[in-house]
Amino acid sequence: MKVADLYKQDGPVYSLEVFPPRNGETTDAIFNTIDNLIGFQPAFISVTGGALGSLRGGTIAIASDIKRKYGIEGIPHFTCVNRSIQDIENLMMEMKFSEIDNVFALRGDPALGQKEFTPHPEGHKYASELVEQIKALNDGEYLMSKDNKDYEGIPTDFGIAVAGYPDGHVELADKTKDLENLKLKVDKGADYIVTQLFFDADIFLEFVENAKNIGIDIPIIPGIMPLDKYGQIKFCSKQMGIEIPKKLNEKLQSNKDDKEAVKEILEEHTMAMCKKIIEQGTPGIQFFTMDKPEGTKKILQELCRGKEMIFRSSTIISASDFASLNRALDIVFTGNYGDKKPDEVKTIIDACLNDCAKKYYKGSVDNLVKNELGDLIGAGPVNPEHPNSIYRSVADKMLKFHEKGVYTEVA
Ligand code: FAD
Repeated sequence: MKVADLYKQDGPVYSLEVFPPRNGETTDAIFNTIDNLIGFQPAFISVTGGALGSLRGGTIAIASDIKRKYGIEGIPHFTCVNRSIQDIENLMMEMKFSEIDNVFALRGDPALGQKEFTPHPEGHKYASELVEQIKALNDGEYLMSKDNKDYEGIPTDFGIAVAGYPDGHVELADKTKDLENLKLKVDKGADYIVTQLFFDADIFLEFVENAKNIGIDIPIIPGIMPLDKYGQIKFCSKQMGIEIPKKLNEKLQSNKDDKEAVKEILEEHTMAMCKKIIEQGTPGIQFFTMDKPEGTKKILQELCRGKEMIFRSSTIISASDFASLNRALDIVFTGNYGDKKPDEVKTIIDACLNDCAKKYYKGSVDNLVKNELGDLIGAGPVNPEHPNSIYRSVADKMLKFHEKGVYTEVA
């Protein structure tokens, strides 16, 4: 599925960004983050490919795993760093065969220790050239086609995202020129834009306006990083040339030795930015989670309050499956096993959930229910007269899902 199509619907589309672990470490932080946020039904999940000159492997595999596990698109970030055009084509094939449908096309940062980006001798200098190469593959033009006019390749069908910079790109002081370079990426075939983080909603809104004025007519999605430390915001500001609004800076300065106060100030500020951008009709927000769910969760909880959020469920559960799932939940919640032994009940419920999980593979909700129910079943029957803490916690979670309309989205 092309991610850009999701933005054709009304209301903000929420997506997440995670980053691969350092080589050799586990992917636990990524999947823990996603598991924690999946109840908010993110529309897709982007997986970075190293940044600020650091390279990390695993991006394509993790993006593909996300798609298989949660049934939502995993978008690998793909840079030109150290890659020839042949390497790029090979890796694009790896994506195709891993059933990746969208790719985030980037030039990448200069390698660690280098001041300037040095392209591979047979590679690309700018992201726009990468977009062009991917677009050519989408037209069935492989590198072989260049020398052999009779060579026919099977067209790929990748959706393409590119990066935009509301505060300008750190290598180019002239924001107007940088915007023109963004337009080049759009002209070459990009489908949507995700921006660098920023600390001033007005700068983002002005950027969107300026982009529209020069004919950029694809969705521009703000990148939001829920920072909570003074050092982080200073680091991002310095490394990426992002302006900290004067008022915010003064507030942070005068509270810089009070970690809790800084956290509160930054949380409030980020929340206010999100609300302002949503009010102005943003098609979506991409949250840079940094593989930690807490900051993003706080924001999403607030944005969901009063059903401001539109759940883009990829799972529209059928009425009969909804009923059988509810019956299964009922048995667990009431402990009313009838003449069946707990083991038999477990088998029945497992079968029902497995069936749903299979059919609604795309449904992250099922995974969550399954996890919760797994604990509950493991703890034995629950007597509703004496609800224990597990019962209450699961019941609360289920109620929350109901409130958010996840289970009431009956086809
Ligand atoms: P480009 O669009 O090629 O731009 C690079 C610079 O060249 C800009 O200054 C631009 O104005 C200029 N330029 C472009 N075209 C021309 C031209 N024709 N002539 C002259 N100048 C030109 N980095 C990673 O390594 N991994 C990631 O996963 C990653 N994810 C990111 C996600 C987001 C949302 C964003 C915003 C950035 C991400 N980056 C990532 C960082 C990115 O790689 C760097 O910012 C990099 O320095 C520029 O990449 P780009 O794709 O924007 O390059």
